[in-house]
Amino acid sequence: MAKDERGPAELTLTALAGRPPRISEEHAARIAREVFASEGTARLLYGERDQNFHIAVPGGQDILLKIVDGEEDPQVIDLQLAALRHVASVDPDLPVPRLIKTRDGGDLAQVDGHAVYALSFLPGAMLEGTPAAAPLLTEIGHVVARLGIALRGFFHGAAGRRIAWDPRQAPALRPHTHLIADREMRKIVEKALDRFIALAPRLQHLRSQVIHHDCHPGNLLVDHGRGKVTGLLDFGDMIHGPLLFDLAIPMAETQGVNLTPLESATRVLAGYSGVTPLEEVEYALLYDTIQARHAVTLAIHGWRTRHDPEAAAKLDAYCAINGPILAELTEIGPDRALAAFRAARLDTVETETLVSRRRAVMGRNLELSYAKPVHAVKGDGVFLWEPDGSRLLDVYNNVPSVGHAHPEVVEAVARQARQICSNTRYLHETVVAYAERITRTMPKGLDKCLFVNSGSEANDAAWRIAKAVTGNFGAIIIANAYHGISDAIAALSPYSGPLAIPSPPHVEALEPPDIYRGRFREDHPDAATAYAADADRVIAALAQRGHRPAALMIDSAYTAHGILDVPKGWLAQVAQKVRAAGGIIIADEVQPGFGRMGEAFWGFAAQGIVPDIVTMGKPMANGHPVGLAVTREDILTGFTGRVDFFSTFGGNPVSAAAALATLTVIERDELQRKARETGDFFRAGIQALRLRRAMIGDVRGSGLMTGVDIVADQGTRAPSAPEAKRITNALRELGVLVGIDGPYGNVLKVRPPLPFNREHAEMALAAMDKAMEI
Ligand code: PMP
Repeated sequence: MAKDERGPAELTLTALAGRPPRISEEHAARIAREVFASEGTARLLYGERDQNFHIAVPGGQDILLKIVDGEEDPQVIDLQLAALRHVASVDPDLPVPRLIKTRDGGDLAQVDGHAVYALSFLPGAMLEGTPAAAPLLTEIGHVVARLGIALRGFFHGAAGRRIAWDPRQAPALRPHTHLIADREMRKIVEKALDRFIALAPRLQHLRSQVIHHDCHPGNLLVDHGRGKVTGLLDFGDMIHGPLLFDLAIPMAETQGVNLTPLESATRVLAGYSGVTPLEEVEYALLYDTIQARHAVTLAIHGWRTRHDPEAAAKLDAYCAINGPILAELTEIGPDRALAAFRAARLDTVETETLVSRRRAVMGRNLELSYAKPVHAVKGDGVFLWEPDGSRLLDVYNNVPSVGHAHPEVVEAVARQARQICSNTRYLHETVVAYAERITRTMPKGLDKCLFVNSGSEANDAAWRIAKAVTGNFGAIIIANAYHGISDAIAALSPYSGPLAIPSPPHVEALEPPDIYRGRFREDHPDAATAYAADADRVIAALAQRGHRPAALMIDSAYTAHGILDVPKGWLAQVAQKVRAAGGIIIADEVQPGFGRMGEAFWGFAAQGIVPDIVTMGKPMANGHPVGLAVTREDILTGFTGRVDFFSTFGGNPVSAAAALATLTVIERDELQRKARETGDFFRAGIQALRLRRAMIGDVRGSGLMTGVDIVADQGTRAPSAPEAKRITNALRELGVLVGIDGPYGNVLKVRPPLPFNREHAEMALAAMDKAMEI
């Protein structure tokens, strides 16, 4: 029968063989006793082609007696036995069956024209039909990886055979997919097979060896209670092929308790890659290999339905499960799946251990956000992943401005790092090209660039320049400002704490123009002028101490001040007073710059001023450290004419490439416009929440820079830092990251990467609603 029922291109697709053994249980017990010296009762078990008997041996070791299908190629039997011998010697603790010797010391006997051998009978429950708890999924990945290692040095000529389950044979199955009855499913299968067939040339790059090639739940025995694999069975489908196939099968078919197929797959991968880290090309092909496994199963089922219904019936249950999984993973798509897979590439360092190691070498006081610290091992777009595969929506980080691990930025950095990264006293085009591009976004006249490595350095350079060109030494900031970590800039950053640099005599702080909680509120007829009057006080105070202002330094997102909505015209009035007193204006765009504020590309532009120096850092290169001060020709030469200023790394080719790629993405993808639209939608959603959640006092900001002022009471507007803290921790537990800022530590800092869209805003809103429920 089998000979007539071969499938496409001579692949065996039938379940039945030519001479299926027909041994009775009594006969099997006799063979066990006579050939293998195992005295016990026999019970017939399921076997697709061979006959398998459980021989229960009272007081002894149970065995599995295998009566091999008479059509089986003796070379293939030899392949299995040789592989089992090899694994037993290389990794004796692996839970795979051991060969039981015959009475005369052999591995194989002939009985009534059938090849017969015996294996140790392993304990445990068949995994098939029962979802596995997450730790068991990891364990499965672990055991499969170990088996791969155990088989690494094994070779057998018969492993070169062609079998239908090998996805590399997909071209032979493809013409028969019309036999899949369900039209929708047929299309999905065809798409998966076509994608896989197109990948054929890349399969040549995969590390290959003899593989088990059938690690699915029907061949796994487990102890659910202990979370252990007790048996990995059935070496009947071994081939020489990509090691990746052995991972793809359990990833495709093992279901976790309360986990989606992707989450289940990721757990298996985490266990696997903890033992055998994947190579890049394996990551690249993993999704399609998993899809191909499902598609091959469904295509074989389709073929059998027409040609061998009895054999098809044996696959019915698999297809009922695997079809929907295939459809779900198709919906998810390769990019999201790959991102999740990469996140499983643990960093197997345990989070707790890492916290104490960090403390030991970096000190206790170095801040870690949240009661449960974030241990991110992978980012993609607006999401982060932790080592256990859990996903966090990032509504906090402005540094990865175009999204975590943006492929164009990653590629630009890698490409340039492969070419040259050198001393910035040599010529390189990228930094020049960047300077040309960034100055085009600035008001006329602001067209000279000075590259450094961070926001602090950019501010430090700007402050030096201001002193050099004005001949003055006084600084004006807003109370509680933060501008960076250098000694000079820490003096302009009272936010860092009163002990940082206590009340330096050359610094004066303006009263924050806070119309929600300050002296002049939203009902004041001209809060801008009322607050701007403070500039006169500040200038006079400096003069009393013998100082004229060199500069006003301002973060026009007012981040450290609680993300204020300042009254229109306030900054222009203050700037005018400072200029009249001899100072220049430094716009610190580290927070608002690069389109974040939505309304304008630069924060100062939305407030109607043109500064003399613009400084930037954080979001400039999507996480790569680089800083920049942009100024006018006269100012730059007024400084560099006197000072030999040189930053070794500032604007080096790799930093410049990262910055250029980031700017390209921001402009091309219109992220400023999107920040405005999503930001408006998001804030409207939070405003709506405010009606139901009494702890929301005020909602402020612009574009994707939002401050949510948390209060003890909406009437008194009393700030509540403990409640803000509770909310951020609750959100973190719900998988959403936001921060805290403001002079009272009560303002939720809601400031996601720019690709944050409506769908993400809706996710964040739902989580905020929940976190604010008390
Ligand atoms: N200015 C502002 C407004 C900032 O928020 C920061 C960083 N939080 C800096 C400057 C300093 O930038 P960096 O940490 O890159 O030195």
